[in-house]
Amino acid sequence: MDLIAYAVPFFLLAIGAELAWGLRQGNNTYRMNDTFSSLMLGILSQARKFVLLGVGGAVYGLITDFTHSTLWPADHWLTWVFAFVLYDFCYYWLHRMGHERQILWAAHVAHHQSEDYNLGTALRQTSTGFLLSWVFYIPMYLVGIPAEVVITVGALNLIYQFWVHTQHVPELGWFEYVFVSPSNHRVHHAQNDEYMDKNYGGVFIVWDRLFGTYQRELSDEPCVYGIRGAIKSWNPVMALTHIYQDMLLDMWRTRTWANRWRVLVARTGWQPADVAAQWPRAKADLSTFQRYDPPVSQAVKIYGGSQVALATGLLAFGQFQSLTQSQYWVWWLLLVWTGVATAWWLEGRARWLCVATDGLRWLVLVSAAASII
Ligand SMILES: [Zn+2]
Ligand SMILES: [Zn+2]
Repeated sequence: MDLIAYAVPFFLLAIGAELAWGLRQGNNTYRMNDTFSSLMLGILSQARKFVLLGVGGAVYGLITDFTHSTLWPADHWLTWVFAFVLYDFCYYWLHRMGHERQILWAAHVAHHQSEDYNLGTALRQTSTGFLLSWVFYIPMYLVGIPAEVVITVGALNLIYQFWVHTQHVPELGWFEYVFVSPSNHRVHHAQNDEYMDKNYGGVFIVWDRLFGTYQRELSDEPCVYGIRGAIKSWNPVMALTHIYQDMLLDMWRTRTWANRWRVLVARTGWQPADVAAQWPRAKADLSTFQRYDPPVSQAVKIYGGSQVALATGLLAFGQFQSLTQSQYWVWWLLLVWTGVATAWWLEGRARWLCVATDGLRWLVLVSAAASII
């Protein structure tokens, strides 16, 4: 059972409630364009599971066959508690490396591009994390945690992380010592020098306190959300691939093979010296920071909102309907296309470009729907 699919309606209700609360308090933390981008990335992340399966499951099978380890009993509460804590420990290292190593950052960055911070940001998830993240959970397999327990505690871990993405909850006293909270996770999403590469825990913040990556939110240092190399785009394909693109470009441009290999394992932001000399990558100066917010008409904003609703409906359709593999591919491409075409409207691109890409999408969408009905 995919717990996350069932949690989605509650997530959407909570987002509506947070929006209403913010408007009432005169402290709205939502913008239509940024929310569109976050929700599209969440939708694509869920949709990915129907077109590309995880490699983690296959590796799990291999390891358990090879080690013949006796599995912990799935019906004992101690198994669940142990698995829940061990999962979060593994998650801490995955998440930390996800920031510190650029091949892993390339996948995780999708969660961090938002320059707002709200419950919608929580749903910004990667579509490529499944390629490498399983490596960090090998300890769970080695000690013999049953696969269904690993999957369930993983889903619970992700669901827990939802509520901490809000600016409306202040510091929470003793809670800050043990658990990931809105305050300490705000620090994680900030790009201020003091806050960079801090607070990696998923459920427990104790790992950060143990391994020296904890940072408290400071009252005289307001969080500036987002990433230093802002993408200035609402396009989900751009959000999911820009670091991979940078890496490939650096590998292409550098003159030595040693550098090419090093790009793959280097710290985030590293560039070969010969490439950096000619094509240095600019990092934003926070003192002049401006959120990306291209002006568009009210009609375009309403259309953008309607396309998020359409994509959510399409996701639900794919999740609860069983389609053939090729139908799933068409369905996934339509979701990606919805994300790109709508992003172009919201970025204020040339009207002919928007009309052409979007018109073609509607044609394919209607024909796909007609062929199914
Ligand atoms: Zn992160
Ligand atoms: Zn987060």
